[in-house]
Amino acid sequence: MVKPIVIYGDPILEIKSTEVKKETPGLQLLIRDMFETMFKANGVGLSAVQIAIPLRIFVIEAHIEKENFHFRGVFINPKILREFGDLTKHPEGCLSVPGIAALVERPSSIEMEWYDENWEYHKETFDGFAARIIQHEYDHLEGEIYVDKLDKMWRDMIDPTLELIEDRAIEIPYLIR
Ligand code: ZN
Repeated sequence: MVKPIVIYGDPILEIKSTEVKKETPGLQLLIRDMFETMFKANGVGLSAVQIAIPLRIFVIEAHIEKENFHFRGVFINPKILREFGDLTKHPEGCLSVPGIAALVERPSSIEMEWYDENWEYHKETFDGFAARIIQHEYDHLEGEIYVDKLDKMWRDMIDPTLELIEDRAIEIPYLIR
């Protein structure tokens, strides 16, 4: 079921999400709802806290046709073990911060461990788009949003729009909370 998305200004986005227990009732349903909600809003990643459930889980499904890039996954209790590589700047957007994109600087590569939807353990390194989407979603689990990582120039530029979002004064083409 498509759930309303929590948007910027809601204090729940600042909560540090808690670990998921293996026997959490409704876990598969939650995962399904997260994918449905993300697809409906045309997103490429969604953390549970963005539908007001502060558990350490995010889902990703991204295609970039011209790069021949396809990446899908369910990430439960993820832990970024290290970040490495060059710092790179790329535009990011967020379903919780509608209508805005800004350049965010991040290390190009990460090593991460996590459990998938079948509670199988994984440990892998990622770089490029995959690493960036993961880092963005991981921040949500820590109660952080990318707009708080921006340099002053970008922040000054988007501040007026952030205020509009906080005041619910812009039109958002999907269900919000
Ligand atoms: Zn986001």
